[in-house]
Parts: sequence; C-alpha cells; structure tokens
Amino acid sequence: TFVIAILLGGSLLLWQAHRNQVDAQQKTSFVSNVSHELKTPLTTIRMYAELLGEKRIDDVDKQQSYLQTIIRESQRLTRLVNNVLDFSRLEQGCKEFSKAEVDLVALLHQQLDSQLMRVEDAGMQLIRKIDAAAVLIESDRDALEQIILNLIDNAIKYAADGEILIVALSQRDGQWLVQIKDKGPGIPSAHRQQIFAKFHRVDASLTARQQGSGLGLSIARQLAEGLGGSLSFCPNDGGGSCFELIIAARSNA
Ligand code: ADP
Repeated sequence: TFVIAILLGGSLLLWQAHRNQVDAQQKTSFVSNVSHELKTPLTTIRMYAELLGEKRIDDVDKQQSYLQTIIRESQRLTRLVNNVLDFSRLEQGCKEFSKAEVDLVALLHQQLDSQLMRVEDAGMQLIRKIDAAAVLIESDRDALEQIILNLIDNAIKYAADGEILIVALSQRDGQWLVQIKDKGPGIPSAHRQQIFAKFHRVDASLTARQQGSGLGLSIARQLAEGLGGSLSFCPNDGGGSCFELIIAARSNA
C-alpha cells in the first residue's frame, strides 16, 4: 500500500508539473501571438496616418483609400481587443449576458452588410439564404455579433480561395440554425473537435500563412453555449467548412 501510495503521489506530482509547464507555454505563446496580431494593424495605421500627415499625397482617391485602410485596420483592432476581453471574462467566469429582444434576421443582415466589403475584397461572393422577414428571439446582441463576426473572419482568413461564403438561416427541431459555409480547405478530421479548444490552430507553426491566437472559435462556442445554444463544425458536402450555430427560439414573426 505504501509503495502504491508513493507511486501515485509521484505520478500526480509529475502530472501537475507537466500541466504547469504546458500552461506556462500557452501563456507565453498567447501573449506573443496577441501582441503580434495587434502590432500588424497598428503598424499599418501608423504608416498611412504618417503619409497623410506629411501632406505629400495630392491625389484625392489615394487619400481616400489610405483613410479607408486606417478605418479598416482600426476596426480589426477593435475585433481583436473585443475577443481578448471576452476571453478573459469567460476564463474568469464573469462574462455576463444582457438579454433583450433581438431580430435575428435584421442582426444577420446588418452584420453581413458591414462585412460585405471585406468579404468581396478577399475575392469571395457572399450568398445569403435568409428567407424569413423577421425572427424575434431573446438574446444578447453583442455576443451574437461577436460569434458571427468570428466565423466570418475565419472564412475570410482561411477559405478565401474557395471564393464563396454562404450564410443561411433556417429552423431545426424548433430552434434557429445559422450556417456559415465556405468552400475553402475545410478542417482535417483529426482537428475537428480540437479547433474549439482555446489556443488550438490547425497550422500552429510560426510561419503559418494567417496570424491568429486560436481563440476565435473557443470564444464563439462558449458564447453560443452561454446563450443556451451551441456551435459545431460540419464538413461541407462539396468540401470546405460549415459552422452551425444553434440559437434557442423564443418566438417568430
Ligand atoms: P485563429 O483564427 O486565431 O487561429 P480560431 O479559434 O478562430 O483561431 O480558429 C482555430 C483554427 O481553426 C484556425 O487556426 C484554423 O486552422 C481553423 N479554421 C477556423 N475556421 C476555418 C475555416 N473556415 N476554414 C478552414 N480552417 C478554419
């Protein structure tokens, strides 16, 4: 008994030490990934603001395009910071949802309108399959927007080559289903569950084509569950990804 107790205690200590090491590694790479992600838009904003500040650009179209870049990059900064804030609130268990009546159809159209330029700039065609005129639900507008934005962001980042982004709203088992589909590379089957774990990235190498900290899907799923729904991945029939967001239905109009 004594030997077994010693062995068990020893393994527990080793396991604890291993977990601490993994935690420390994750924290370090989280800080460096997030700093890197914040630095890129900041550098771009500074560069274009300096160019405009020097007043050497006379071409009005060029000035406009520089301003648009500054606006786009500052919006990207806002998205990143919102994700980090949500992440820390969820981690500390102090994320609060403020629910009110939301028209899901209007929310989807507003989000898609605001992202249309980014989607098209990435060379993708946006297809909306939203037939309902209005769908009233009891939910947290900001959280829903953050989930949808993270999914659209990912489609732009990873699936632009597929050239198509479909956003569909339908009903399933008395609940609302929002599907965000693309025709990009999809997710290899070995990663399909893990992509929802914090920090997990399919390509986690330093040379990955796209920047990221592996937080978007983990936050999106936690927010979806916090709202009483779910977020899951389904492989698309013709290849690519399909993310399914289930939202509890209250009433529809
Ligand atoms: P991040 O984008 O910061 O890496 P996410 O949690 O949003 O973090 O995504 C986790 C991983 O899932 C990504 O690194 C990417 O490998 C993969 N992924 C997410 N969405 C898609 C998509 N639409 N197509 C292909 N891969 C995706």
